[in-house]
Amino acid sequence: METSAVRPSWDDYFMAIARIVATRASCDRLHAGAVLVNNNRIVSTGYNGSPPGLEQCDESGHLLEDGHCVRTIHGEHNALLQAAIIGGASTKGSTLYSLYSPCIHCAKYIIAAGITRVVIGKIYRNSDIQAYLAEAGIESTVYSSAPEWNTYISQLFQQEIAHREAPRVKLNNDDTV
Ligand SMILES: [Zn+2]
Ligand SMILES: [Zn+2]
Repeated sequence: METSAVRPSWDDYFMAIARIVATRASCDRLHAGAVLVNNNRIVSTGYNGSPPGLEQCDESGHLLEDGHCVRTIHGEHNALLQAAIIGGASTKGSTLYSLYSPCIHCAKYIIAAGITRVVIGKIYRNSDIQAYLAEAGIESTVYSSAPEWNTYISQLFQQEIAHREAPRVKLNNDDTV
């Protein structure tokens, strides 16, 4: 049985994508995901993982420095780097959706990249980070999802992709094909 579809708000939509992105994270100390968006179009995505081609925490263990794992590039940072690799889209004036509040380093990169809005899934460790972003003129909000969207999205992957018959197209002069 299919539940009736809920059309998400932009924040619900991009935050749901950030959660999917985070499933690719390779350091289980935090599965983070970020989606960089400009004019409601995705510019890039990022999760916390090692630089391409290098060992990942889930294969080789964490690389600890002062109690923090430093093996991975953070999701927010990776989203910015992916935008640089893909090219063709400016990060200026964009919005960053991040599953967790950015660390101080990522916050600096966010400011320097000209991002103007940050939507945070959950505050993680640093509760002062919103004030820091605000100092740089960046609006940040902690996301709260619409309950009906939560219910719908939690059921979505329990269903097969809906089967739809393609409509039959009647050509005007179908004997010429
Ligand atoms: Zn790690
Ligand atoms: Zn960070």
